[in-house]
Amino acid sequence: MRYFSHSHNRGQYLRPPDLYEYFVDNYWFKSIDLENQKINEPLRDSHNADVVIVGGGFTGLSAAYHIRQKFPNKHIVLLEGACCGYGASGRNGGFCIATDLLNKDGDVDPETRQKNLDVSFYGLKFIKRMISEYGVECDLEENGMLEVALNEKHIRGLEKFRDHLKSFGLDSTLLRGEELETEIKSPRFIAGLNYPHGAILNPAKLAREMKRVVEEVGVEVRERTVVTRITPGEINHVDTELGDIRAPTLVIALNAYAHKLGFFNNRVFPISVFQIATEPLTETQLESIGWGNRQGLSDMRRFFSYLTLTVDDRIVMGGSGVAFYDNDAICSGNDKTITRRIIKDLFYFFPQLDGLGIEHAWGGTTTYTLNETPSVGVIGDHQNIYYGVGMSEGVPTTQTFGRIIADLMAEESNEFTNHNVVNHPITYAGPRSLRGTFGRAVKWMWEKLG
Ligand SMILES: Cc1cc2nc3c(=O)[nH]c(=O)nc-3n(C[C@H](O)[C@H](O)[C@H](O)COP(=O)(O)OP(=O)(O)OC[C@H]3O[C@@H](n4cnc5c(N)ncnc54)[C@H](O)[C@@H]3O)c2cc1C
Repeated sequence: MRYFSHSHNRGQYLRPPDLYEYFVDNYWFKSIDLENQKINEPLRDSHNADVVIVGGGFTGLSAAYHIRQKFPNKHIVLLEGACCGYGASGRNGGFCIATDLLNKDGDVDPETRQKNLDVSFYGLKFIKRMISEYGVECDLEENGMLEVALNEKHIRGLEKFRDHLKSFGLDSTLLRGEELETEIKSPRFIAGLNYPHGAILNPAKLAREMKRVVEEVGVEVRERTVVTRITPGEINHVDTELGDIRAPTLVIALNAYAHKLGFFNNRVFPISVFQIATEPLTETQLESIGWGNRQGLSDMRRFFSYLTLTVDDRIVMGGSGVAFYDNDAICSGNDKTITRRIIKDLFYFFPQLDGLGIEHAWGGTTTYTLNETPSVGVIGDHQNIYYGVGMSEGVPTTQTFGRIIADLMAEESNEFTNHNVVNHPITYAGPRSLRGTFGRAVKWMWEKLG
């Protein structure tokens, strides 16, 4: 199976379009004053390295860290077009749900089940390790998750999810009535599943702190370095706007931007997701909604909403729909229709917050595979190009993928390299010209079904 094609960018030597051209009104960026942070110098002139990583989101940063641990003497260079965390990694909901990589079937022998749990929970564990070992600050709160039902069908979904967690020995509690009200007060929520296996965090903080950590362990990080062309080979050639670099080993950590450089064409869907941040809630407003345990909150609709409380008591809310654009375009940072829907859902869930101000609205693009399974592995005629794509719950999964990439590079055989997501085939997603239309048709159908 070929996941790289030169055909669409042959002869081109251009800055990939719609990258870094829009102002993003992202609350997380504002919260860390990103505009005034030091952004590293770009790569200039010609260089050689042992490993080049393209993309400075969680996948690239985690890969950089883990490769460094396995190969302390290799010269590793990470190239990021804007600044580390500029993509989905610095814009997301900050949910760190540790159940994403649980295999669909938990009913296996205890040893296999435990190995699967170890892989699934590695991402969160690694974030906690960066906090304790490197003093990473990312406002991590391990408050668990609360999934809520808006109708009876959703309750059946919650029960099914509870059983799935149970098959892995993971506890969760189905709440109704007063029990639910002690967690969250909404006239719309009729039940909820509370489970402790997850956390919330400030993703932009985490990305910027991870940049610091990988530099501390000796990785060279180049920001403002847009890669314009990749020519795979025994030695891979990477052209950037101002220079070029060659390396025998490459990591493609580009997520939704990968197809612009010829990778995963017609395999992964770029899918755009949008979010808002309210003004900080007053004590009275907080009391009116309860939510004292500050779990990550989401509902059970196909196009669900997800909500968190920030450290300064704002609500960050996203979801309520997604957007597919023609020609696999990346979102420009906003979509008025979906943003309006998010705001409508917020006041539908919590009418008692009527009048609360909305201060920020932004979006980002991530990837989706038709078989809804992420994939991490190695490709290329020389088996020297590593990748991770298709993570819809990527905050912890990307961290794990960085580890898997390093383990694969070291040719290790363990529960990480043997996990079913490794080299998982990525289903053909149809021709690009039809994909936007197809995506919108599926979206329309799902919206009708609820
Ligand atoms: C709005 C939104 C909400 C989300 N919410 C959640 C959530 O709550 N929980 C969760 O688990 N997951 C969530 N996700 C998914 C999660 O954010 C992603 O799966 C994850 O961040 C992907 O990380 P990545 O490093 O693979 O990609 P990215 O973070 O997108 O990194 C790719 C990087 O490549 C860089 N790049 C692109 N082109 C070039 C080029 N030509 N040259 C050099 N660099 C380039 C980009 O600037 C970018 O920094 C959300 C995604 C979005 C968009």
